[in-house]
Amino acid sequence: MNKNKFLYLCLILSAFVRGNEVSFSEVTKLDADTIQISFLLEKVSYLKSYSLVNPSRLVIDVYNSKLNSEINEAYNFPVRKISATSEEGLTRIVIDLYEFVRWEKPVQIKTDKGILLNLVISKDKKLKKNTRDIVIGIDAGHGGKYPGAVGSNNILEKDVTLLIAKELERTLRDTQGYRPVMIRDGDETVSLNDRYQRARQYAADILVSVHADGFRLASVKGASVFIWSEEASSTVALNLSEKQRKRIQADIKNLKTEDFNEDQARVLYPEIYIKKIQQSEALGIKILDQLKSDPFTKIHKKNVEYADFRVLKSIDIPSVLVESGFITNPEDAERLKKKKGRRMIARSIFLGINDYFIENPIEGTFAEDNPSHLNYEIQKGDVLSEIAIRFGVTVESISKTNNLDNKSIYPGQIIKIEI
Ligand SMILES: [Zn+2]
Repeated sequence: MNKNKFLYLCLILSAFVRGNEVSFSEVTKLDADTIQISFLLEKVSYLKSYSLVNPSRLVIDVYNSKLNSEINEAYNFPVRKISATSEEGLTRIVIDLYEFVRWEKPVQIKTDKGILLNLVISKDKKLKKNTRDIVIGIDAGHGGKYPGAVGSNNILEKDVTLLIAKELERTLRDTQGYRPVMIRDGDETVSLNDRYQRARQYAADILVSVHADGFRLASVKGASVFIWSEEASSTVALNLSEKQRKRIQADIKNLKTEDFNEDQARVLYPEIYIKKIQQSEALGIKILDQLKSDPFTKIHKKNVEYADFRVLKSIDIPSVLVESGFITNPEDAERLKKKKGRRMIARSIFLGINDYFIENPIEGTFAEDNPSHLNYEIQKGDVLSEIAIRFGVTVESISKTNNLDNKSIYPGQIIKIEI
């Protein structure tokens, strides 16, 4: 490494570490079986959290931080002890446990005092290991004062993307082992920087951004899947990212320096970033494969595309952008205006995500056991034919797997869906 580059790295590193102190905050009882352990950070941080067995414990590594004072707190069942040590800019928080617990990936919440790092733990006697849900960040493109593209039938991209996102959220929410988090929940204006920042704060394992853009030629149609690259790979990608780039420039001015800076982090952790690109590609391929087998959706590009979409820029969260189609094309606009068409996009994304995690399981999640089925919780108003469409299976197969015959289903019932 030459001297200038070295000095530059030192500068970035010192800017990163400065002022990021970690301190213990409190333990809150959320209900009879659930507690929340909180720490205080000065900045949104790059975290790694995982569980260990024998003895059972949870670990949170806070990168580029230091402890304000050593933490060593005894606590009640199921927590034995909460402790933390800091070495060479890495703070390691360890939660020692009496038994296995259900836990949620820690989230980072901005407050007046700083960033609250919250870890939720629940008792569950049935567990054979520490278990957590896979967190899926769902980003509905545009919103609020940015309508996105306008369809040939006057539908707005921001409405289409939110409806697809909500459809996907529903399937993930009612399928055991997944937890969806919405980057925007309603008609809200969210900057591109805030979008991947939120994905980090909500501890998303992956981020899927849903779009339905326009093109100057109404004949251009079909769905495509993008991952991030500084060099765009096709003319369409170039064209789209040009538009995006203009918006990014406006966003850069609003970049909050006290928040996590992905561009600096990419210089600091190149190996993490390279892994993220590979994972994004693997995820993109799975979603695209599902889109290809969907009879309603035509494909625009048969390979995963690369584009400079800022929303995908997180250094460690595998991120893909799904173009559901071009709403400037009359056929695509009609398809995406109808629930049937939007549901197919949500289904392909869901099945693609599931294929990805079964093939690349995260430790301590349901996907690790290489399951042959998903567990779905019946909701009020559910009918088997709709569930079948949601998962791309037949009513007959659901009936057979669950011995339903002509028995009726009821809310709260867990049924198996063969995958
Ligand atoms: Zn868009």
